[in-house]
Amino acid sequence: MTVLRFAPSPTGRIHIGNARTAILNWLLAKKTGGQFILRYDDTDTARSKTEYADSISVDLNWLGIRPDRVEWQSERIDKYDAAAEKLKAGGLLYPCYETVDELDRKRKRQALKNLPPVYDRSSLQLTAEERAKLEAEGRKPHWRFKLDQKQVKWHDLIRGAVHVDTGSQSDPVCIREDGTYLYSFCSVVDDIEFGITHVIRGEDHVVNTAVQTEITAALSGAVPVYGHHSWLVGTDGKGLSKRLGSLSISAMREEGLEAMAVVSHAALLGTSDAIHPCADYKELVDGFDLAKLSRAPARFDETELGSLNAKLLHMLEWDAVKDRLGFGSEAFWLAVRGNLEKLSDAKLWHEVVTGKVAPVVSAGDREFISASAKDLPAEPWDSTAWKTWTEALKTSTGRKGKQLFMPLRLALTGLDHGPELAALLPLIGRDKTIERVS
Ligand code: GLU
Repeated sequence: MTVLRFAPSPTGRIHIGNARTAILNWLLAKKTGGQFILRYDDTDTARSKTEYADSISVDLNWLGIRPDRVEWQSERIDKYDAAAEKLKAGGLLYPCYETVDELDRKRKRQALKNLPPVYDRSSLQLTAEERAKLEAEGRKPHWRFKLDQKQVKWHDLIRGAVHVDTGSQSDPVCIREDGTYLYSFCSVVDDIEFGITHVIRGEDHVVNTAVQTEITAALSGAVPVYGHHSWLVGTDGKGLSKRLGSLSISAMREEGLEAMAVVSHAALLGTSDAIHPCADYKELVDGFDLAKLSRAPARFDETELGSLNAKLLHMLEWDAVKDRLGFGSEAFWLAVRGNLEKLSDAKLWHEVVTGKVAPVVSAGDREFISASAKDLPAEPWDSTAWKTWTEALKTSTGRKGKQLFMPLRLALTGLDHGPELAALLPLIGRDKTIERVS
């Protein structure tokens, strides 16, 4: 049984990059018939907010990602306490007393000597008396995990063979001076307890994986299989971080994009598959294979997402949209869907069909248009009414092609572009047609 998770910190809204991570984990869970857990990494109490957690849950729901289980790190502190005690007892979690300033000065001295800014473990050398003295002075320890300082190797689902030398890393702080935990420690405890089998996350976590692999081993847990996906970049090749507002999932929803367009885009970005609109999750799951993900940065292009959205709308059936639309009919939908970029554009065409339009008639077409009504066939109309009418007009006026069709379009819709008139005409109906051409 596979168990996967998406573990956002509720310190902001999720954007297309986070959603991509969530979707990849979700797809792997679905593909393998496993479980998907949503875990809020909310131990940073100063920055975590329930309103962000709520927005993440709304966004995921909109995207169609339904977790089998939801967990909050802030509710599991006793588990972290127990794990920390175990590591402390084994000497693998040790107290450190340096202040932020002292650490900063240490790093500056190292930089001067061209040494990497790795923590020198001086607190590990403290005797019990020295520690007691520091604590008597009012110093509170933060706690670091003692790394093994060796090569950690794994077969990464996306990057292939990876090795990280933890000897070139500082022992990570797991508990802050105020006693709160860092999520990376909690994450290990959770991943072990929830039986997480696979973790797909961004490549910014590669070093973290090496560190967490050592902590997992120290807690006698099973190390999950990892896959680190590349970052998203914009069309300019730069990171997306500066434009996160407009790339948030909520902004995309408010803008009226289709969830499935966002999901298809996020899931197929950076794969060897062409980005195309998937009708549903089933299609995505069927075609899903992590091996198709490239290691190169994936390019996110809002214009591409826009055209994907349009393509998706063009193939949606009436049943899939009627509740959201709240107006129109199947015939209306089939007539206009091919002209939409966003679902909300349908409002304009509904207005054109049922509401008032301001007919546009140029001086040279005035006579042609006002005389055109007399060639209108009798109702009931179907999709042949347009052909019958225009054939009759061809004969009576000698007009053809654009000269014939464009003045009619302008008079009937007030616009020089739009859905096929053969489809619109029966929706507009004879009375309105006569009204508009007169
Ligand atoms: N809360 C972490 C993040 O959002 C989770 C990383 C992980 O997947 O372990 O970066």
